[in-house]
Amino acid sequence: MTKSIDAEGGCLCGAIRYRVSGVIEESGYCHCRTCQRQSGAPAVAWFALAPEGFSYLEGAPKTHRASDHAGREFCGDCGSYLVFREDDVSQTLGVNTATLDDPALSPPDFHIYCEDRIAWFNTDDSLPRFDQGRAE
Ligand SMILES: [Zn+2]
Ligand SMILES: [Zn+2]
Repeated sequence: MTKSIDAEGGCLCGAIRYRVSGVIEESGYCHCRTCQRQSGAPAVAWFALAPEGFSYLEGAPKTHRASDHAGREFCGDCGSYLVFREDDVSQTLGVNTATLDDPALSPPDFHIYCEDRIAWFNTDDSLPRFDQGRAE
């Protein structure tokens, strides 16, 4: 089942606005410690699409490199964590779903990095759960 998106989103303070357009390759929750720390939330919902389908309309993000192969883009003014971008542009780009103007557009289909899931945080669903990434 192919699902597409054509929508806008942005950060909390409004300094950064973006547009996403294209086929959603995957959409899920990430429970890893890095996402927890960067977002300040117990999990991050994100969806992936080809990097060409994402563009900033206003503002420019700051980037934090938590690993040697990707950058995590966020608003330097309000801190909203927006995008996970691989250095390898043939990889998909991750957009954090809750930063969409309408986050309901991309419901999650799975959970990854459940080995880091916080014990008191659980979601009431029967979606597939993976200890690490989906490719294990
Ligand atoms: Zn902001
Ligand atoms: Zn993560």
